[in-house]
Amino acid sequence: MKKYNIVVDMGKCVAPQNCDLKCIKTCPLKVFAYYPIDTSREDSPVMITATFPFSCNGCNLCVVACKPRAISVSPPA
Ligand code: SF4
Ligand code: SF4
Repeated sequence: MKKYNIVVDMGKCVAPQNCDLKCIKTCPLKVFAYYPIDTSREDSPVMITATFPFSCNGCNLCVVACKPRAISVSPPA
């Protein structure tokens, strides 16, 4: 089974203050998940993970949607 290599650089991610989780909303195959890092804060930073990489078809919509260019998607080796 093919598996794309999806990397989310959380050092570049600007959610939730400056991005309304565009990668999650954009991905047609629901590859991403997110969770708050500090559940005691309403404005907690979030962690974005590529939870279902085997679902990815390499469409690159998430890469284009992410303004700070925090996401890279590479083809299977
Ligand atoms: S490349 Fe397409 S299918 Fe893969 S994670 Fe990004 S938006 Fe989803
Ligand atoms: S689109 Fe980019 S900035 Fe927005 S939540 Fe996803 S990784 Fe973070």
